[in-house]
Amino acid sequence: MDVPLYLRPRVDPPLASLLGAAPFLRSLVDALGSPLNVLLPESVAANAERFRAVYRRHHLAGRVYFAHKANRSSALVRRLAAEAPAAVGVDVASLDELRHALSCGFTGDRVMATGPKDREFLWLAARVGATVNLDSVRELEQLAGLVRKYGLSRVDVLARLSGFESAAGHGGAGTRMLSRRSRFGTPAGEVEGLLAAVERHADAVELTGLAYHLDTTGLEEKGRALEQCVLLMDRCRARGLAPRAVDIGGGFGVGYVADAEEWERWTTALSEAVLGGRPPLTWRGHGYGLRNEGGTVRGSVALYPGHRPDAGPGYLDELLSLPAPVLGRGPGTLLLEHLHDLHIEPGRSLVDQCGLSLARVLDVRRTGEDSETYLVRLGMNAGDVSLEEHGVLVDPVLLPRGGPEEDDEGPVGVHLVGNLCLEADLITRRLVFLPRLPRAGDLLAFVNTAGYAMDFHAHHAQRQPLARTVAVEKEGDSWRWCLDEDYWPITHPGGTPA
Ligand SMILES: *Cc1c(COP(=O)(O)O)cnc(C)c1O
Repeated sequence: MDVPLYLRPRVDPPLASLLGAAPFLRSLVDALGSPLNVLLPESVAANAERFRAVYRRHHLAGRVYFAHKANRSSALVRRLAAEAPAAVGVDVASLDELRHALSCGFTGDRVMATGPKDREFLWLAARVGATVNLDSVRELEQLAGLVRKYGLSRVDVLARLSGFESAAGHGGAGTRMLSRRSRFGTPAGEVEGLLAAVERHADAVELTGLAYHLDTTGLEEKGRALEQCVLLMDRCRARGLAPRAVDIGGGFGVGYVADAEEWERWTTALSEAVLGGRPPLTWRGHGYGLRNEGGTVRGSVALYPGHRPDAGPGYLDELLSLPAPVLGRGPGTLLLEHLHDLHIEPGRSLVDQCGLSLARVLDVRRTGEDSETYLVRLGMNAGDVSLEEHGVLVDPVLLPRGGPEEDDEGPVGVHLVGNLCLEADLITRRLVFLPRLPRAGDLLAFVNTAGYAMDFHAHHAQRQPLARTVAVEKEGDSWRWCLDEDYWPITHPGGTPA
C-alpha cells in the first residue's frame, strides 16, 4: 500500500487520557451497547473559562452563551449552569431547549432565545425573563402582542441583523456587501424600520443590544460586521434608545485534525484522485465538491477546514485584535471604549474536546476479491456520528479488543459502513486509513463529536438503538461514569458527593 493518508484527530489531555482507558470504554459499550456517546462535563467548563480569559485580556464584560443546539446533553448544560451567572448563559433555539435549560438550573435571565420562534416559545421566554434575540419585525410585533395580552413584564430584546453593507467609497456608487445574506435576522439596511418598531412597542420591549450570527470562518467578514454593529449602536443612542451589548453569535470553530501536513497531503491527494492521477480516495469517486473538467480540477471543496490552529477562544482573541480599517481601532478596543458588553454564542467550540462516540466493529470484509481495501461494518449509522454531514473529515481511533495478532499486516484503507440496509449509510465517504485492520469486536472511537456530530442527526430508522449518553470524570487513576440524565454538578459521576 502507498503511504497511508491519515487524518489523525487532535486529542487534548483529558480526552487523550480517556482514550487511554480502553478497558473502561469497552466495559461501557459491553454494558450500554453500541453506539455510545461519552461526555466530559468538566471540559465544557474548562472551555468556558478559556473564553472568559479572552474577555479578561480585552477587559470586556458580557456573557458566553452556550448554543444548546450543538448537543442535547443534560450533563453539559447542568455543568454550565453551575458556572458564574454573570459569565455563562445559554442560547436556546426551540421551546424544548428553553424548557431543558430551565430544568438544568439556568434562570430565565441567563437565557438568550434565538432563531425563528413560535408563540409558545416567545411566551415562555418572556414569562421567565429571557432575552429575546429578535429575528424580524414580525416577531417583535408578535412578542409585544403577547406581553400586552398576558400582562407580562417588559422583555429585553436584541435586534439580530444580517447582510451588512457599507456605502462604496466616494461618489456613492451604490453599496457593497460586507457579509453574505442570511435567511435569519433583519438586513442591516432595514435597521431603521426595526428601530422604529422597537420604539412603537416601547411599552412591551426594551432594546438591550444588537446581534448577528454569521455562519462563516472568515475573520475579516466578522470583524466588519462587528464594526458595523458598533456604528449602529451609536445610531440607536442618537435615537434615544439605550442598547448596551453587541452579541456576535457563534462560529469560532474547532480544529479537528492534529497535523497541518496530514490535512494538506490529504486535500492535495483528493485533487489528484479527482483527476485520475491516483486511485480514488472516496466511495465511488465522490469528489467533495471537486470535479474533473477536461483534466482541470473545478468546483470548490465542501469540507470543514480540518486543521485549524486558530479556532475557539484563539479565534475570538484574533477577531478582537483585528486592525479596523474604518474606525481605526480593533474591535476589542472599540467595544471597550464604547463601554459595550460583548456577548458570544459558541456551540461547536464550547464543546470542543468534550466527548467521543464509540462503535463496535461488527464485520470486516474485502471490497472485492483482489481488493486491498475493506468494508468495516459498525454498530452505528451515519446519523449516530454525523461528522461527514458537516464536512468534518477526521480518523477514528482504533481500540483493539485483544493484543496484536500474527496476521497483523500494518496500515489498511477501509470504508466505514453503518448498520442500515441503505447503500448511502456510510459513516464516511472517504477511504479511512487505520494503523491495522480492525477485527469484529474491536471498538472505533470517533473523537470530538460533542459538537453537532453525536446527536444532531440521530434517528430511529429501522428501530436501530439510539446511542445512550454517559458523563464521565477522572478520579485519581480511574474513571467514573453515570448516565447523562443522572449527572448533576454537585456529585461526581458514580454518585460520590463532590
Ligand atoms: C448555530 C448557532 C450558534 C452556534 O454556532 P457554532 O458554529 O456552533 O458556534 C450561535 N448562534 C446562533 C444564532 C446559531 O444559530
